[in-house]
Amino acid sequence: MPKDNKTFYVSTPIYFVNDKPHIGHAYTTVAADVISRYKALLGYEKFFLTGTDEHGQKIEESAKEQNISPKDLADKNMQNFKQLWSNLNIGNDAFIRTTDAYHKEAVLKLYNIMKDKGDVYLGEYSGAYCTPCESYWTETQLIDENICPDCGRVTKELKEASYFFKLSKYQDQILEHIKANPDFIKPESRKNEIISFVSEGLRDLSISRVNFSWGIKVDEDSDHVIYVWIDALTNYLSALGYFDKDSDRKKFWPIDYHVVGKDIIRFHAVYWPAMLMSAGIELPKSIFAHGWWTVDGKKMSKSMGNAIDPNFIITKFSADAFRYFLMREVPFGLDGDFSYKALIHRVNTDLANDLGNLVSRTLGLLDKYFDRVVPEYNTPAKEDDELYEYIISNIDTIDKRLNNLAFNKALMSVWEIISSLNKYIDAMKPWNLAKDESTHDRLGSILYLILDTIRLLSYFIYPFMPESSLKIYKAVTGDDSLESVTSVDDLKRVKLLKSGVKLDEVKQIFPRIDEAEMLKEVTPKVDKEIKKDIIEKINFTDFEKVEIKAGKILGAERVPKSDKLLKMSVDCGDEPRIIVSGIGKTFEPTDLIGKTVAVVTNLLPAKLMGVESNGMILAATADDGKHQLLELPDTIKAGTKIK
Ligand SMILES: [Zn+2]
Repeated sequence: MPKDNKTFYVSTPIYFVNDKPHIGHAYTTVAADVISRYKALLGYEKFFLTGTDEHGQKIEESAKEQNISPKDLADKNMQNFKQLWSNLNIGNDAFIRTTDAYHKEAVLKLYNIMKDKGDVYLGEYSGAYCTPCESYWTETQLIDENICPDCGRVTKELKEASYFFKLSKYQDQILEHIKANPDFIKPESRKNEIISFVSEGLRDLSISRVNFSWGIKVDEDSDHVIYVWIDALTNYLSALGYFDKDSDRKKFWPIDYHVVGKDIIRFHAVYWPAMLMSAGIELPKSIFAHGWWTVDGKKMSKSMGNAIDPNFIITKFSADAFRYFLMREVPFGLDGDFSYKALIHRVNTDLANDLGNLVSRTLGLLDKYFDRVVPEYNTPAKEDDELYEYIISNIDTIDKRLNNLAFNKALMSVWEIISSLNKYIDAMKPWNLAKDESTHDRLGSILYLILDTIRLLSYFIYPFMPESSLKIYKAVTGDDSLESVTSVDDLKRVKLLKSGVKLDEVKQIFPRIDEAEMLKEVTPKVDKEIKKDIIEKINFTDFEKVEIKAGKILGAERVPKSDKLLKMSVDCGDEPRIIVSGIGKTFEPTDLIGKTVAVVTNLLPAKLMGVESNGMILAATADDGKHQLLELPDTIKAGTKIK
């Protein structure tokens, strides 16, 4: 059924409730917010969905560690996301939680439709399983035969009964769909990646688990919990009440955009469409996969301790400045790098200098020569027509770019107009016209044109920076809210500004930031490195207190802002532990992975540059400062005691 073209539906993925919200979450959600605000502005009835993914083994285990129920853990943690969306001014229409009763019902409904279709069967799954990542890995994906490629931990071989979904059956149909619908997967690079993944052959998908219980149970076989991805993907339908006869929200399907990170494109562009095909439900119109953010050029991760809390950025700058930065700094679809320097630069250059200055200099002139009353436009000139024409011709470009989620390009077009206005003011030299009473009307017309164009620009700034847009709009029109429009053509209508209105005095909308001061404020204080002391002689009992074991290094990375410290994940026979060691001048992280070394395992935890270390890797330091590890042969298993 073709949907009413005045509705618009966009989603973010539902975020894993065990995660702390970081820049990546903010990025996806701001992008979805920008396009949904833009559509709403043009009179669309929109539905913008976000939420939290709350089931699975990891939640079950974290809850156990904290001695609370999984639901209590989810209740607590999902607030972090809600709070951030409120701080970021996100205008989502619903917030779905996979523990909501209506969602559970919908998951079972979809599962049963697929089963009735003959697409679900009971089989046996075996493979290398990583518990923290809730993923099975194939031989080719594993590192060193048993290490999880995502987190560097040791996987375990699992064999379990599992229900399977006949994914393989839909292989050709998916390929055909991708080829027939050029917009189905964006950007192009991701589309090619998916085409080659599907072309290599799809294996049936294991869609139930028996090794934990925190999830949606299969109706007739309650040992089985439905695979988290089947559970999670269904949220896009359950939030609409898709399986309820009289849900008003059903009209939003098919969704216009699933906005996702590139790491989960496969789930959205292969598994999800196959599930929908099985259930006879129309496919999403478009899945857009964006890139990843690094921080100061380094990969962001919880364990690296360089994940910045977006709430902190918002308090130090503003929601709008942060939103603008995220959308302007990198083309949507490519990877980007966050640094405070770059953010400050964007604020000072684009916001304070270009846009802020345009507004304040215009209002300054109006104050000086017209007592802040909007003049008439009664003395036209050729330059004005040319400028208006240029602006109007740019509006379709901006609209097209926004509709394609080419956010940075849309902003570049807006800023080209801003710069053309700044140039227009310089060329018209209003301060000269003010000297002569006979050119007073012309001066008024020039100021009118600039104010009128700023009014128009407010509409395109609004999706990105809603608060600032309204401030600017009010500054130039006197009105609190944007006058409603119903199409892009409405936005091409110029000279709509009302003359004779007395405007308020306005402070700087985007104050400049003192870079040095701000960098001092936002740079985390560095912990002093722990000094080693010389120990007195000890007896054997004392020595026996020291537990030394063989440890296999599973993963290693540099500690940010330190050339000396390396942070390693080491298997000492039990759960992998994090150990920070000052051997970074001798070794590259990649040199160390896979080595078996001697580790003191019962040291009290110590914090080194903000990272907690749980143990010490033994090494000798040569005269030239180079380290030599006490390396053990591969035949010594991780966890073996050393005496
Ligand atoms: Zn893993």
